[in-house]
Amino acid sequence: MVTSDTVAPGEEGLYLRLLRDAADAVAGAGTLDEALAVTVDLVAERLGFDVCSVYLSDERAGDLVLAATHGLRREAIGQVRMRPGEGLTGHVAEGEQALFTSRADEHPRFKFFPETGEERFRSFGGVPLVRRGRCVGVLTVQTVREYRFPANEVVALQTLAGQVVSLIDVKRRLAPAGAGRAAPGTPARGLLVGLGTSPGVGLGRVAALGVDPLRAPPPPRAFAGADEEVARFARARDAAARELEAFAAQIEGEHGAAAAAIIRVHEELLRDPALEERVRARVVERQEPAEHAVYQAVEEVVELLSGAGAAKVREKADDFRDARAQLLRALGIAGGPTALDAGDGGVVLLAEVLTPAQTAHLDPARVVAIVTQHGSETSHASILARSLGIPAVVAIPDLVASVAQGERLLVDGDNGFVFQDPAPQIEAEYCRRGEAARAAAGVVAAELAARAPAGPRVAGVELLANVGLPHELGAAREHGAAGIGLLRTEFFFLQQHAWPTVKEQVAFYRRALQAAPQGPVVVRLLDAGGDKTLPYAPAHDEPNPILGLRSVRFLLSQPEVARAQVEALVEAAAVEQADVRVLVPLVTAGWELRAVRELLEEASAARGVPPRPLGMMVEAPSVLYQLEHLLPLADFVSLGTNDLTQYLLAVDRDNELVRQYYSPYHPAVLRALDWLQARLAADGRRPSVCGEMAGDPLGALALLALGYRTLSVRPRAVQPVRCLVHCVDEAALPALRAEVLAAPTPADVERVLRRALRQAAPFLLDA
Ligand code: PEP
Ligand code: MG
Repeated sequence: MVTSDTVAPGEEGLYLRLLRDAADAVAGAGTLDEALAVTVDLVAERLGFDVCSVYLSDERAGDLVLAATHGLRREAIGQVRMRPGEGLTGHVAEGEQALFTSRADEHPRFKFFPETGEERFRSFGGVPLVRRGRCVGVLTVQTVREYRFPANEVVALQTLAGQVVSLIDVKRRLAPAGAGRAAPGTPARGLLVGLGTSPGVGLGRVAALGVDPLRAPPPPRAFAGADEEVARFARARDAAARELEAFAAQIEGEHGAAAAAIIRVHEELLRDPALEERVRARVVERQEPAEHAVYQAVEEVVELLSGAGAAKVREKADDFRDARAQLLRALGIAGGPTALDAGDGGVVLLAEVLTPAQTAHLDPARVVAIVTQHGSETSHASILARSLGIPAVVAIPDLVASVAQGERLLVDGDNGFVFQDPAPQIEAEYCRRGEAARAAAGVVAAELAARAPAGPRVAGVELLANVGLPHELGAAREHGAAGIGLLRTEFFFLQQHAWPTVKEQVAFYRRALQAAPQGPVVVRLLDAGGDKTLPYAPAHDEPNPILGLRSVRFLLSQPEVARAQVEALVEAAAVEQADVRVLVPLVTAGWELRAVRELLEEASAARGVPPRPLGMMVEAPSVLYQLEHLLPLADFVSLGTNDLTQYLLAVDRDNELVRQYYSPYHPAVLRALDWLQARLAADGRRPSVCGEMAGDPLGALALLALGYRTLSVRPRAVQPVRCLVHCVDEAALPALRAEVLAAPTPADVERVLRRALRQAAPFLLDA
């Protein structure tokens, strides 16, 4: 999470370039000392400061030690030490708060350190280097002349410090043999820096996305009528068979009958009457265009064959896929190289942009990591990557131009680093880190076990799970969620190739309900549109999709789709006798809730069951101003802080160019959440919060302080948040609330929360 409050767009190019160059320089530097030296040189030279220094904390002595400098005496490196609180630099470290002053010598905390020769410098800027909630050092800048640091530069330096500290951390870990004393050598061809949005580490060869169209679902196409589509299929099959026969004859001449027989197998498959029957049935019954029917019919066969264990049978499945490619080509679809066919083993998927639909189709067994040029923390592709457990780094400038197909990459999704062609020492270090991460999870489990007998320290907290993909339901159960607070059904829709029928949806929801933990299951109606475009839905050329036909607006614009989904939910809930609650996304008007309620009542009456509870998501700020009209229409309320932050702050949550502006810790967001909680409590409501912030220990702490007691979080976050609830003193929450609400910037809010978390449950800073 970026902690700055704003960055002037005009300066972005300069700072981003600086950051990238610093990353490159650090990657090329042999030791931590060298890496720090190039960093301070770059900052001073590019931004025109007389001095830039880095002080690092010496964990044993608790002091800050000058570790690198551009502009102070070099002999002072390793010599100048200060206690936290001593001098301006110590003051920055102690308060974990940036300090910029044009007259350093007039500041009450100023202290002169003669060893540095710094009396000549008048202006001082210092930014704490905060790593996993702990201050690990200070980055300082100084000027000889009196200099008033412009606001955008202050914020940019804070952003820069966040990245620099991560770079230093990597370097330090790669040079474990004493600070900066590791053997020199280039650890990687290059280091790319982006935003880590799905944790974990993946190592593999790059496969650039551009999936072979012959292996992917065909693009949407209008249905030309059953007779015409069946005739198109027959023509394509005959053309493909003729082509294969000509090819087989050529192969026979060149390589003999045995080789030609392989080709003829495909020809036979094309003429398989069972396949023809499946295609015809899909065209007639589901009104699918020929290419979709072919694609799906073969998928059905392949699925049947893949279930069988024998290798020979699985090979047959591949033959069917190859035959299908022939057919699709004959139907006019152009082919290309398949990204995921690149090499053996796991691949690192590279794309400029990854859509949620593409992400939903990824196979975690093959894709070990994702790297993209664009994207953000709360973009749905990132949320899905977390669901799939695939490490991801997004928003890497110039990624596509910097990395070649087949290149080896090590992707660190925790820190946002991508090492190109990493040396064995980096791989070894990351193996060690994997063990450390597992140890951190163990610490949370051990703390929780130790504190369980005393019970939670904050009363009445309910922890539910957010799930997008079916396998997460099992994880939600394993992690002890008390139910499902958000089932994002759009990911199921994203995995389909045509609108799913009521029957198919019933089957999916029933499977989901069977796999869910005991307790309520809040099923969100299809939340498509915006960045989640369904390949088979009517395409709209929208200039501003995030403000366009998305969510419930999109759903209600397709009444049959809405009706089918509601019917399927009512049926699945009735059969499974489950506590299903229906949630409407992005409500902005009362009629939307009424329209869904009507569908729910109709479907329930037809099934002869009472209607399921209907809930409203609070994601648009307009809801806050019409609660007295909307609340009577909703049985329950769920807060989507991802979208609420986006719309409240007018920041596209998917746009990395403005990610400095996006923060759920923005005072405006927290004040809105605070007001809303009080207003809902007065109405006797107990809202749940299902945005990503609820699963972050800092965010969960903020929400507890504001009075929220139902949190819905990704399965893996259930235990850390539960642990938080066992550690935080409920009596301290009102004071924390007051402090949080008084903080003027996101950075200040985060600092307040970090301190509170460090006191209550320091180990959660690493969770
Ligand atoms: C939200 O907006 O906070 C939310 C939970 O929905 P999504 O992230 O799927 O838009
Ligand atoms: Mg949302």
